[in-house]
Amino acid sequence: MVQTRGELLKKKLKHYYDNKERYSINNRKWVQSHKKKRKKYQKEYAVKYRINNKDSIKKYKSDYYKENKEEHYKKSRKYIKQHPEKANKYLRKYRSNNKLKVAFWKHKHRERYRNIVHNFTQMEWLEKLQLTKGVCPMCNKFVGIPKLTLHHINPISKVKAGHIYTIKGVKPLCRRCNSKINDKY
Ligand SMILES: [Zn+2]
Repeated sequence: MVQTRGELLKKKLKHYYDNKERYSINNRKWVQSHKKKRKKYQKEYAVKYRINNKDSIKKYKSDYYKENKEEHYKKSRKYIKQHPEKANKYLRKYRSNNKLKVAFWKHKHRERYRNIVHNFTQMEWLEKLQLTKGVCPMCNKFVGIPKLTLHHINPISKVKAGHIYTIKGVKPLCRRCNSKINDKY
């Protein structure tokens, strides 16, 4: 007897409904016994996937962020309002783990504020910092790389609006030396 696909499917379904109880018990048993295994497998798979697709995930995330910037800000502001302590804790942790980044953002903020342009990348600045080995070139004291601040050789207060600072126009100084120089102007 030749069976069409539809007939086969019907037969299968009928068998399933006739033995529904058995199926569901078996299924549940199977799920329970494999839950742990499955979880472990899923975890391993996720880790592998993340490692193998690092770049595409990064791109996807940044694309998504760019497209949903407004919404992202709204959400995070709402979250901060609802969980001020958690958000604070997170921020503190982030700041202490990313001191160099935070310092660079401060300069970026100041740049917008004073209407000047820093025409160099974070990498260039980090390279310059690394060259000092954490020693302030002015007082020759070791303060550590994260404590070196960005000094503008031509002071911000003296340059015209829209002034462009290249990497040669700035240098790392310890906070003390930097503020001493700023006092002079
Ligand atoms: Zn110094």
